Amino acid sequence: MRVRLREIVEGGLDIVDQAAPKDLDLKEEFINLEKPIIVKGHLERVSDFVLAKLTVTYTLDTVCARCLDPIDGDVSFDFEADLPFKMGDKHVDLGARVREEILTGYVPRVLCKEDCQGICQGCGVYLNTEKCECNNKKKEVANF
Ligand SMILES: [Zn+2]
Ligand SMILES: [Zn+2]
Repeated sequence: MRVRLREIVEGGLDIVDQAAPKDLDLKEEFINLEKPIIVKGHLERVSDFVLAKLTVTYTLDTVCARCLDPIDGDVSFDFEADLPFKMGDKHVDLGARVREEILTGYVPRVLCKEDCQGICQGCGVYLNTEKCECNNKKKEVANF
């Protein structure tokens, strides 16, 4: 995810780039390693740094924290970063910042939907579509 400094002209440069997770050294379990990480945004040169306003999209590969259903949706988020460069540099590299933002922004308790009912602690029934058979104190949801 390197961008040539001289391509960042006055008025800035719009970019769309993508990389495989492994190319950004991302091997985390919650990331779908088969799908690319996509970066879109705008870069502007400001004296000795590049101001980057980026939208990052990657694909999850995890399970719901309550019901353990697989989750493979896309996650998108925006961030801004100052990427410093030195005299003589030909490129700025976005990869390290994108990696960092993905890792620090990830919430490890993802739910398949906001009101997921989870699995009954008593009888193990999947409460999103089935009724509890054990009458386990009404709807007792795993406490996340
Ligand atoms: Zn769920
Ligand atoms: Zn039950």
